[in-house]
Amino acid sequence: MKNDFDLSIPKDFEEKILDFWGKNEVYQKSIKKDFKAPIFSFYDGPPFLSGKPHYGHLLATTIKDVVTRFFSMKGYKVERRVGWDCHGLPVEKYAEEKLGIKTKKEIEEKIGIEKFNKACHDAVLETKPIFEKALQRIGRWADYKNAYLTLDNSYIESVWWVFKNLWDLDLVYKDFRVTPYCPSCGTPLSNFEVNQGYRDVEDASLFIKFKIQQPTAYTPHSLSYALNPNTYFLAWTTTAWTLPANTALAVGPKFNYVKVKLENGEEYILAESRLSILNESHKIIEKYKGKDLVGLRYEPLFKIHDVGYKTRGAYQVLPADFVSIEDGTGVVHIAPAFGEDDFNLIKAEISSPEIPITVDEEGKMKKGIIGEGMFVKDADKEIIDDLKNRNLLYKSEKIFHTYPFCWRCESPLLYYPIKSWYIRVSSLRDKLVKNNKKINWAPKHLKEGRFGKWLAEAKDWAVSRNRFWGAPMPIWQCKKCGNVDAFGSLKELKKFSTKPIPENIDLHRPQIDKIKLRCGKCNGEMERVPYVFDCWFESGAMPYAQWHYPFERKDLVEKTFPADFIAEGLDQTRGWFYTLHVLATALTLKDIGLGKDKPAFKNVVVNGLILDEFGRKLSKKLRNYPEPDLIFEQYGADSLRLFLISSTAMGEDYRFSDKSVKEIYQKVIAKLVNSLKFYELYADKKVKDPRFKIQDLSVLDKWIFARLNETNQNVTKAMENYQLTEASRFLIDLVDDLSNWYIRRSRKRFQKPESKKDLANASATLKIVLIKTAKLLAPFTPFISEAIYSELSAQYIGHSARYKSLGIQDPRSKIQDSIHLEDWPKVDKKLINKDLLEAMKELRNTAALALAKRAEAKIKVRQPLASLKIKNPRSSPFGTLRGRQKSKIKEGLLNILADEINVKEILFDSKIKDEIELDTKITSELEIEGMKREIIRTIQDLRQEASYKPKDSVRLWVEASSRIKKIISDNLIELKRELCAKEILFGKTAKFDAEINTQINSEKIWIGVKKI
Ligand SMILES: [Zn+2]
Ligand SMILES: [Zn+2]
Repeated sequence: MKNDFDLSIPKDFEEKILDFWGKNEVYQKSIKKDFKAPIFSFYDGPPFLSGKPHYGHLLATTIKDVVTRFFSMKGYKVERRVGWDCHGLPVEKYAEEKLGIKTKKEIEEKIGIEKFNKACHDAVLETKPIFEKALQRIGRWADYKNAYLTLDNSYIESVWWVFKNLWDLDLVYKDFRVTPYCPSCGTPLSNFEVNQGYRDVEDASLFIKFKIQQPTAYTPHSLSYALNPNTYFLAWTTTAWTLPANTALAVGPKFNYVKVKLENGEEYILAESRLSILNESHKIIEKYKGKDLVGLRYEPLFKIHDVGYKTRGAYQVLPADFVSIEDGTGVVHIAPAFGEDDFNLIKAEISSPEIPITVDEEGKMKKGIIGEGMFVKDADKEIIDDLKNRNLLYKSEKIFHTYPFCWRCESPLLYYPIKSWYIRVSSLRDKLVKNNKKINWAPKHLKEGRFGKWLAEAKDWAVSRNRFWGAPMPIWQCKKCGNVDAFGSLKELKKFSTKPIPENIDLHRPQIDKIKLRCGKCNGEMERVPYVFDCWFESGAMPYAQWHYPFERKDLVEKTFPADFIAEGLDQTRGWFYTLHVLATALTLKDIGLGKDKPAFKNVVVNGLILDEFGRKLSKKLRNYPEPDLIFEQYGADSLRLFLISSTAMGEDYRFSDKSVKEIYQKVIAKLVNSLKFYELYADKKVKDPRFKIQDLSVLDKWIFARLNETNQNVTKAMENYQLTEASRFLIDLVDDLSNWYIRRSRKRFQKPESKKDLANASATLKIVLIKTAKLLAPFTPFISEAIYSELSAQYIGHSARYKSLGIQDPRSKIQDSIHLEDWPKVDKKLINKDLLEAMKELRNTAALALAKRAEAKIKVRQPLASLKIKNPRSSPFGTLRGRQKSKIKEGLLNILADEINVKEILFDSKIKDEIELDTKITSELEIEGMKREIIRTIQDLRQEASYKPKDSVRLWVEASSRIKKIISDNLIELKRELCAKEILFGKTAKFDAEINTQINSEKIWIGVKKI
């Protein structure tokens, strides 16, 4: 590629590289591998097409991209088809907003399903490019043109096929149940959807008095005859709006209950261990077991004949094992319409229950019920006031507790009785658990933890939604005989349809509803049930539906199932990961082409949530995060990617701020850019083919090759195990070592080389290391890697067989168009000199100790000192060295150490007190040398400030003390050479390009410089 980009501006080179990838179809080239190349199968979890892409999307997409790029470089054929989840409530909510409506009724009566679904369809297609752009900008390579859409007919038909399989396995049933229900969306939710929306809220905690009924001839309960007319059960609730629907009270049969008398003469029955809730003094007058109370009757709190409820059998005490004495009173208010336990209790206790449903499907109190027409939460206050007025409220307090909200529209959820279709997931539990054993989870703890536990408790899955925009459920029911059947393909529908089905039919509602079928049992007319699928059923069906399995691409789907790899956020352990697993488990109960007893995926990487720097959720309201575009602009996609991969252990929550992305930019990207610039500026690029051998290289070169190959080994291993965080941290360390040690310590070799050969060796080493580091970084930071490769590959010297000894084993004879088409670098174990790595580590520790001593003595590093003594040569950096090279390496290391801490010599002395001893005495000779270095440094800074190139010749003017002038005169030749100065003149001038007024060892100096 043409390198016309500015490496100091991430946005500039990243956008140009994106352009280059696009124009040259580099992604497409990367998957056009040899047909023998092994397949690496990847499934894309389709994000919901609604709203704007946020950091959560960018995080998951980065993980997907890093892993697939890695395996592609490893030689696999990695097709990456993106998918978009087009259906479901989020889109419906968006369409409602656009159409200016709020309720389901308005869709049905005002807008019509056809127009409404068209609005949903358009909304999706409007959002798609926004998502594509964000994913592409962060560098996600994928096939965007052939993306799968869950709204396509072909997708829907495969979803039907999946469902029909479950139907035939008798895994589908219909039930009337109390389920989590969103009154605003007007539809039930599955238990795992509910799990996504719990929030802490404040509610009223109410202690209600239920007056015990005086005995009649029909109440045979022995206790009731001994009752004071002012005796009440004390029951507890936090949902006042459910009180009108009360039909029973429940007690724990084994618990101890007491009757207490208050000073005002009232008597209450409650659990003995809950007496602390009473505010005033009281006397215990009787004790019972819970079972003794069963059958006692009480007066209903509200009269609700208007809802048609028959009261026979109601308003009595029932035994229940879910009663708790952890909180409340040990007496539980039962509203069967609005609680799962409540409903099941009534169903178990009273056959054919007819239960009072006091709330309509929009969550409003029904006609004739207190709070009529009000939303349930708003009706609470009215109900509480009424109970207070009638002296039926013992007390009311505030309570903070968790309450479920709709994960999409944020309405508080209700538990509501409704007819739904269920998948019998509970019957698959054992298989679900077994198949999970075949999955590799990153992080590991999720396998037996969050996911494993969830599977062990798997509940039946409510899959029908009383909505409009979704894959319609393929169930038809006979109007005449009631026969119900499911259909798994368009072909089957055509076979039974009463009228020809048009070829171009859109399978969405309402068109699908118009298809009537002939009943196989009585020849009557069958109508479709009005439900659509839970959109999680659709996304769980993506392995099959994305390719229209089994109607098309049968081989491909069977060959790529299960996926080698998927990735999403932690919440998907109860969302997509779960539904993928459930459907795969069900479809492989028998081998129908997909194998037997299979999970849907073999490896899964799970990321945590992104929070702000204070640990709060990112929220539009708080404005506690920078827009992604701003981050791309300032620090580039590479920095964001590397932050997302390296900063936080997989699965843990992130602390995000633009500061932390900036840090990565400075620590890694900017350092790589500077290293590359350093190479461009100082390396000997004429040496195309230096015939060097590893033995001839300097210690620093040997060391960086050891570090490079060590890192290569570590990163490969970590990536093969899906440990992305670890892998990226190895690389960050390598970049740091390259820039802050190899280049820093090699500066002199490049700038003032001792020999041509050493410059050639250092130049070749730096180039090879830069290219290979870029390759290792390519999956993580694809942009800067590409930039480095394209800058250096034009003069790439790594293809000769001679370089095999340096870990360059590229079998290709020609340079690739892109670094991403290169093979993953191979490790040359011979170059990982462990002794040298260990010695260098020790050396750097020793240097740090010595520099600390300098700082303690307040002596600048530029001031040379006489010596550093090291106590024990064996535990010193050089103690571990072995072999033939020992003395040469030792000498090299001693020079590096002496250079780093600026001492004349390193001595070994076992008699010193500490580990090391720094001679801090500054002789006048050393002082003069120090001042000379200061003068050179000051002038070099000035040259830089004037933007001169290293080889530009200059004229210098100096005005200073006679001592400084003498130092300059005494070292004139050296100074002129070091500073590329033609002349150094004493005195002032006005003709300078740049000047500086400063002090050296508290002596004043003025310098002016001019290019000549
Ligand atoms: Zn909702
Ligand atoms: Zn029939």
